[in-house]
Amino acid sequence: MKENWNKPRKMTMLNDYKCSICDYIEEQWSSEKEIDCTFCGGLSTRIISGGFFSLPGIDQGFPTTADKWAKRHRKANRSNLKRLGIPC
Ligand SMILES: [Zn+2]
Repeated sequence: MKENWNKPRKMTMLNDYKCSICDYIEEQWSSEKEIDCTFCGGLSTRIISGGFFSLPGIDQGFPTTADKWAKRHRKANRSNLKRLGIPC
């Protein structure tokens, strides 16, 4: 049971493909290096964008917001944390 979670049967990820003919960019859940362009049927090659791994939506904005919140939260609760014996 646990092995199925840790070891997916195949590496399938969301990739960006750019058509070499019409420059149409599309996202596909595929591990292929080349696919057929859905727009013109031409050859679309995979773009190494790294967007899937960096998770831009979370990397941008969230850490700073979370950090600010954590700092404020910690400051507000400093006396409580001290009483509980948590270093801050
Ligand atoms: Zn195309």
